[in-house]
Amino acid sequence: MPKKRKIRFKASDWKTDFDGTLGRWLARYLKRKLDELWVQYPPRGAAKDAAEAGGCRVCGRIVPRAELDVEHIKPKGRVPKTVDGWSDYLLNYFCNPTNLQGICKDPCHKEKTARDRKNSK
Ligand SMILES: [Zn+2]
Repeated sequence: MPKKRKIRFKASDWKTDFDGTLGRWLARYLKRKLDELWVQYPPRGAAKDAAEAGGCRVCGRIVPRAELDVEHIKPKGRVPKTVDGWSDYLLNYFCNPTNLQGICKDPCHKEKTARDRKNSK
C-alpha cells in the first residue's frame, strides 16, 4: 500500500472559479481518491492474475506479481481541469476490462508511459 499522506488545505491552492474550472486542490484530492479506488478495482486484479500466470502482455516474460503493473491500453489521459472533463476521465480510468492488461513494470510499462506522454503532447 502506498503510504497515506494527509491532504492539506493550502489557501494558495484553493482556486475555484465556479465557472466549470476545478480548483487545483480539488482535482488533486479527487485524483488521489480515485487512485485508492483503482487499487481495488476488480478488473485490475483480474488483469494482474492473468499476467502472473501467462506472463507480461507485451514481452511475455513471467515476473513476480510485485513487478507487474496493470495499464490502460487506451490511455486514461490527464487529470481534467474542468468539471466536464471528468466523465471521460472516469470512464477511461474505470474502463472495460478488455482495455486493461498486465505488463511488467520494467521495461514495458516504463516504455509505454514514456510513449503515451510523448503522444499526448
Ligand atoms: Zn514486459
